Amino acid sequence: MNNRLVKKFFALLIALSLLPAQAWATGYTGTKYPIVLVHGLFGFDNIGPVEYFYGIPAALRADGAQVFVTQVSAANSTEARGEQLLAEVKQILAVTGASKVNLIGHSHGGPTARYVASVRPDIVASVTSVGGVNKGSKFADFLLGVAPPGSYSNAVVVSLGNGLAKLISVLSGQPTLPQNALLAANSLSTAGSLKFNAAHPEGIPTSACGEGVYNVNGVSYYSWSGAQQATNLLDPSDPALVLTSLAFSGEKNDGLVGSCSSHLGQVIRDDYGMNHLDEVNQVIGLVNIFETNPVTVFRQHANRLKNSGL
Ligand code: CA
Repeated sequence: MNNRLVKKFFALLIALSLLPAQAWATGYTGTKYPIVLVHGLFGFDNIGPVEYFYGIPAALRADGAQVFVTQVSAANSTEARGEQLLAEVKQILAVTGASKVNLIGHSHGGPTARYVASVRPDIVASVTSVGGVNKGSKFADFLLGVAPPGSYSNAVVVSLGNGLAKLISVLSGQPTLPQNALLAANSLSTAGSLKFNAAHPEGIPTSACGEGVYNVNGVSYYSWSGAQQATNLLDPSDPALVLTSLAFSGEKNDGLVGSCSSHLGQVIRDDYGMNHLDEVNQVIGLVNIFETNPVTVFRQHANRLKNSGL
């Protein structure tokens, strides 16, 4: 055998043995507990090839995380969605043999995950809220304001909302999930959110725009969000988010949720150059090229959970 080739072979073996052991054992995103993703209003697990958390599950799995994508009612109250999520979490624990899960919820998925951690802290390692509607959305307030319950306009908005929610549930293969757009709007309003927080206060900042307690009943709480509406000229959803952001009258927001409302537990950042859809890498990866990619932000967070022993 060629002498130089043998030398090269052994040099390669030595180089491989010097790599950090952890890179082999678990990987950058190899959390101790499974990661469970929870969608927001009008959300889904996947419709055909299009995932709600676009490209995120694969990116987390690539370096060691066990990832589950859940599906709850596209439109319903936080409590109804929370009970559905709790049932799914129990199934995930049964399948994996894990004792806890790391919940990551986007938008209405934030409060939905908080519900599960509030009623069953023993089976939740962490809750992470991404663009979470934790203290309500001024846009939900606006909708309920211009279309108050009982009015004709409310009936139209609710019927459109229910129709969209049903369509999503059929397309995503869960046609039997109950949908109720009026209950969803109430849960997402400021008044509805504050009522929910009174019953489930874990991780919610007590000040208007501070951080919350980092760990409550053994559950770690984290949050991040964006604060820019127009981020990509090619994304057809940007103009709509510019419009909805008008409901916030100048307050920092991602188009649908105010930065301060997104706060939960440890605030990682509340002003990424992302809008509400960019936060989950939508629409199909059209995000701000001048900001950290949302997929990277999710990977960094999985690594944060891993390093915290979660
Ligand atoms: Ca986008």
